[in-house]
Amino acid sequence: MEKIRIVLAGPRGRMGREAVALIQETENFELVAAVDRIHDGEYISDIEGMPNVKAPIYTDIERCFQAVKADVLVDLTTPEIGRIHTKKALEYGIRSVVGTTGFSEEDLKELKELAEEKGIGCIIAPNFAIGAILMMKFSQMAAKYFDDVEIIEMHHDQKLDAPSGTGLKTAELISEVRETKQQGHPEEKELLTGARGANYDGIRVHSVRLPGLIAHQEVLFGGFGQGLKIRHDSYNRASFMSGVKLAVDTVMKVDTLVYGLENIID
Ligand code: NAP
Repeated sequence: MEKIRIVLAGPRGRMGREAVALIQETENFELVAAVDRIHDGEYISDIEGMPNVKAPIYTDIERCFQAVKADVLVDLTTPEIGRIHTKKALEYGIRSVVGTTGFSEEDLKELKELAEEKGIGCIIAPNFAIGAILMMKFSQMAAKYFDDVEIIEMHHDQKLDAPSGTGLKTAELISEVRETKQQGHPEEKELLTGARGANYDGIRVHSVRLPGLIAHQEVLFGGFGQGLKIRHDSYNRASFMSGVKLAVDTVMKVDTLVYGLENIID
């Protein structure tokens, strides 16, 4: 069986550590190198708490791509470096699976053009949890019947971007089927700035950041005399790994940029 050769960026991170375990336990995946901010010239197995994997570590992604033959970059870092990694991978003809969140519309447009120019796949998924994808799909279904909706996304307090990629994506999907509408009283006033949350096409999006949380979201719909709440919880980072596996297998078969796991599951 031919293995998919993977370079992992961000192996010491919370998602990265889960991804190392996933790659190790998946028969057709092979970790050929890692890109880290530190540990240049060492091996994954040299890092405390890591499994005995003899994959070399590079701090410079270009040096990594020049030295190692790779099929897919899996990026689980930060938006600033993740966008550079993804661009470099595509330039080197290497497919990408990106879990890093916080990319701008401009980043996505530039990466899409590059993927198309190179004719290779790139999957960027703000949420790899299959349950979260279903939550977004169900929310879009419900929004056809309930046009008053607020999103509350809740994450751990180390998260850098707000709202979350999933919160934003949910708002985008809802606004595709919902007439633009400013919710609440037309003359409402915020006594504290931000009290009503961010505004996406009239949909209010609230971001909660607390230690102890992982990734959770509620989509609240209100109608006359009734309410509907759709909620998803990721209780640990392993919840994202079946989505990463699906994305790595799928990225080998597509030749464009796909944004969102919902576009690769039925
Ligand atoms: P994390 O624990 O902070 O891990 C980020 C890792 O990236 C750290 O090891 C960090 O190293 C490393 N890093 C930073 N700059 C780097 C560079 N220049 N080169 C290489 N590595 C670098 O964060 P996390 O919770 O694992 O999340 C990682 C990303 O995935 C975030 O964008 C998060 O929002 C996203 N995420 C996505 C999903 C999804 O389903 N798509 C789910 C959860 C999280 P240092 O510690 O040395 O800075």
